[in-house]
Amino acid sequence: MQKLIQGILEFRRHVFPAYRLTFAKLAQSQKPDCLFIGCADSRVVPNLFASTQPGDLFVVRNVGNLVPKHGDAPGPESSVPAALEFAVQALGVKDIVVCGHSNCGAMKGLLKPPAGLPNVSAWLDNGTPALERMKRSGPLDPAIPDYDQLSQVSVLTQVEHVETYPFIRERVTKGELRVHGWWFDVGTADVHVYDPAQKKFVILDESQAERVLQV
Ligand SMILES: [Zn+2]
Repeated sequence: MQKLIQGILEFRRHVFPAYRLTFAKLAQSQKPDCLFIGCADSRVVPNLFASTQPGDLFVVRNVGNLVPKHGDAPGPESSVPAALEFAVQALGVKDIVVCGHSNCGAMKGLLKPPAGLPNVSAWLDNGTPALERMKRSGPLDPAIPDYDQLSQVSVLTQVEHVETYPFIRERVTKGELRVHGWWFDVGTADVHVYDPAQKKFVILDESQAERVLQV
C-alpha cells in the first residue's frame, strides 16, 4: 500500500502537470475506440505495454479474462455482459480485444482446481468450455507449458463467447466491429496476436499489425 500512496503523491507532484490538458479534455466525456478484456493479474498492464493514454481504452479485467456466453451470466455475474453492452452500444467501440497472458493463475486453477477458494472455483466454471476445447482439439503451441497452452486456447474460446451476444454478432457481421484474440508473454513483454492463417499466436510486429488493422 505504501507504494500506492507514494505513487499518488509522486503523480501529483511530477507527472500530472504533463497530463493536465489531457484530463481537462476528458473531464466531461470519454470516447475510447477499443474495449480491452484482460486478466486481473498485476503483471498485465495494457496502459504500459500498449502505450495507451487516459481515454484510449475501456477496460474490463477479471480473474482469467473470462467472458460468460450470452445468457450464461445472470445476476451477480453480469459485470462482463454489462461492460460489453456499455462499450459497444453506448460508447460505440470499433474493436474488442480479449487478452490472455503467460503464467496465468486462473489457467493453473482450471487445470488443478484450487482448494479453499470457493468464489474463485465458482468463477472458473466460466473457463470450462476452454478446458474442454483444449482436451478436444489440443494446444496451438505444444512447446509451451500446459497452463500457457490453455491460456491461448481460452482466448479463442472467450472471443467466441464475446460473439454470442446478439448486438455484437450483428455489428461483426456488418463489418462495424472486430473482435481480436491477444496473448501477452510476461517474461518478454511481447504481445502475440492470433493469426488464423497460421492457426497460432504470433508476435505483433509490423506485418501482423498491418494484417490486424486490415481485417
Ligand atoms: Zn491471469
